[in-house]
Amino acid sequence: MDHASGPAVLEQVADEVRACTRCPLAARRTRAVPGEGNVLSDVLLVGEGPGAREDASGRPFVGPAGQLLDELLQAIGWQRSDVFITNVVKCRPPGNRDPEPLEVTTCAAYLDRQERALDPAVVVTLGRHSLQRYLPGARISAVHGGLRRSYSGQHVFPMYHPAAALHQASLRDTLFRDMRGLPAALLAARRALGDERAAAEQAEEAVARVEDPSVADDDAEQMTLF
Ligand code: URA
Repeated sequence: MDHASGPAVLEQVADEVRACTRCPLAARRTRAVPGEGNVLSDVLLVGEGPGAREDASGRPFVGPAGQLLDELLQAIGWQRSDVFITNVVKCRPPGNRDPEPLEVTTCAAYLDRQERALDPAVVVTLGRHSLQRYLPGARISAVHGGLRRSYSGQHVFPMYHPAAALHQASLRDTLFRDMRGLPAALLAARRALGDERAAAEQAEEAVARVEDPSVADDDAEQMTLF
């Protein structure tokens, strides 16, 4: 259980990740890659796992895929420092193979805590592995570029992995088109969250009035319509 504030929790998680030996990936890593960015951001980007450059530097998305990610963010007037970037697994799978289910589930507790600490309005999934965490069974070709809701209620904006566009040039345009939809998706997510919070507060007030009629205010007559 994390009792500290969001930014302090993120720092604590990063320290734990750097010292982690919970799964076999730890033995072969140079550096673990906890994630980085704006600890107050409303946007969390989640990739798959560190590659060679990330393993050497301890920072996410600093290789060729990271360069494309920077360009994608610049296309909407954002920078890396506007968002928080991390991965499903925090240590490099050897030879850039896919992370194995045990590695993903072992590492998931770190991402769970990062999410709770950031409490982002939108999670941008980069690639299949990240997508599966939030929308199990979804096909990226069907859901990319649209705002979805995960089972736990998070707003999720799925995108192809930038590395995919390095191998398949036609995906580059798709990535830029999808990225241009992100600011509107963020606004829609914020609006939905604001409406839900307001509705929850109204419901709480209504319950308080029923339990203790002295709490009733000027809206009491309207509240009887509920
Ligand atoms: N690919 C990822 O999924 N994450 C990184 O940090 C770098 C490349």
